[in-house]
Amino acid sequence: PRMDSVTVAVRVRPFSQREKNSGSKCVISMHSRTTTTIQDPKNPEHRKTFTFDLAYWSHDGFQKDKDGVFISTDPSSKFASQKDVFHDLGRGILDSAWQGYNATLLAYGQTGSGKSYSMVGLGANKGIIPNVCEELFQAIEERERNQEYQVTFSMLEIYNEQIRDLLSRTKQPGGLKVREDQHLGFYVDGLKSVPCENYAQIERLMEQGTKIRTTASTNMNASSSRSHMVITIQFRQVFLDRDLTKQSTINLVDLAGSERQKSSGSEGDRLREGSQVNLSLTNLGNVISALADAATGKKVLHIPYRDSVLTKLLQPALGGNSRTTLIAAISPADICYEETLSTLRYAERAKKIRNRAVVNTSTLM
Ligand code: ADP
Ligand code: MG
Repeated sequence: PRMDSVTVAVRVRPFSQREKNSGSKCVISMHSRTTTTIQDPKNPEHRKTFTFDLAYWSHDGFQKDKDGVFISTDPSSKFASQKDVFHDLGRGILDSAWQGYNATLLAYGQTGSGKSYSMVGLGANKGIIPNVCEELFQAIEERERNQEYQVTFSMLEIYNEQIRDLLSRTKQPGGLKVREDQHLGFYVDGLKSVPCENYAQIERLMEQGTKIRTTASTNMNASSSRSHMVITIQFRQVFLDRDLTKQSTINLVDLAGSERQKSSGSEGDRLREGSQVNLSLTNLGNVISALADAATGKKVLHIPYRDSVLTKLLQPALGGNSRTTLIAAISPADICYEETLSTLRYAERAKKIRNRAVVNTSTLM
């Protein structure tokens, strides 16, 4: 098996209206396709440069076309559109899937940094997930007919260490449980996995899931920025003439906001929520740190996958059988300096992880 490092990309968004109104300054610059530089607003001489696989400048240099899609103003603009991001990251996921590798895409960053925009998108500016699904079915339709294809779709949310099936309308008191199978590893017991035959079906499911997610968080008087959303696509190719199947699991994860939870004014619920949401995210950081240490030759006795729901589900993606990509979403604004720096440091640690992705094949009985 080959050793793959995690592909890490950074993306900086435009100023929000609020940031513009308050006269925010941009503390981020990108001088090449791989470098991100952050400047300390209190000490402008103090700059730190990070090198990742990709650095996406989506801060300026763009305009709206007639369909409302953001495109570059001119050929010299370094602006990265949704299509550019999909072209690099989404295509990689699709290539892996066709070859029978598992693939995982994680979006990390503080609330409002652009995680959902990159993953799901907004209006005409479709994100990576819809583009991946659309192209998957397009490619299936163009293939020859001596193969069969099976695509299933599931969508869940982890909130307070509880799992909610976003494709199910029934009440789920206490949430679904993670179980462990000797061969399958960790899985969510009772999670709906819907067979899909075309992109329109997936689009509907995503809409439905997003609606349930929003309603649920409104009912609990919470914000969906505190929950993790995991979309899983199982892609199976059956080669009828060769008695062979190839199987790929694609995990697309929109993580909860990475900002430190403020403790002021917390009631019981909020407190529990704050610490629990942090449990999955904090533990993801612990797992990443442990894996990064192990990859750099330090002696690591234990990787704490079992300590949170998210890390159980992401175990194959983290140091296991998956090609994994992390997109670190950042704000350009000076007021977000501390959070942005911490996001870049997190991404730097993730860069050190080594995975062992193998093609999942089996012969038919
Ligand atoms: P998050 O999911 O990290 O909380 P969002 O994706 O919801 O953040 O982004 C916050 C706001 O910024 C949204 O209004 C979104 O449309 C906008 N935004 C984020 N990234 C971009 C981008 N690359 N181009 C244009 N608008 C963006
Ligand atoms: Mg979001």
